[in-house]
Amino acid sequence: MFRIGIGHDMHRLVAARPLVLGGTLIPFDCGSDGHSDGDALTHAIADAILGALCEGDLGVHFPDTDPQWKDANSMELLGRVVWLAHERGFEIVNVDCNVMLERPKLREHIDGMRANVAAALNVDIAWVSVKAKTGEGLDAVGRGEAVTVQAIVLLRQS
Ligand SMILES: [Zn+2]
Repeated sequence: MFRIGIGHDMHRLVAARPLVLGGTLIPFDCGSDGHSDGDALTHAIADAILGALCEGDLGVHFPDTDPQWKDANSMELLGRVVWLAHERGFEIVNVDCNVMLERPKLREHIDGMRANVAAALNVDIAWVSVKAKTGEGLDAVGRGEAVTVQAIVLLRQS
């Protein structure tokens, strides 16, 4: 049996914050605001897995009112979500993601993000797709005010 899930995340970009995507620290003059490390790619993937499991969203499992998760490493949260999927008898088949960010260019970081995500999902890197897009100068992404991520994941009963 298969399950499919969709995830979405958006973070405001602000000064004096690290820009972390897929567990990769990307050198830039601003980064994601928000609880934890603001890793929008990892959050969207975790939400997609929780969606496929019909287990709510990240906020249910790791509430931002809980100081335990302040500045948490999002890859660790993703690891816990993958563990939950395994507990429910599912393994990850593949994941496909769109990262919408005006600047900086992500091309040189894509394979590093894919490797980090693949390790967290316990799948081969060939099953992890990360695509980078800009906002074409339009909307909050286009103005450089936000990073937005879409993720879709397929689970298979193991
Ligand atoms: Zn997030």
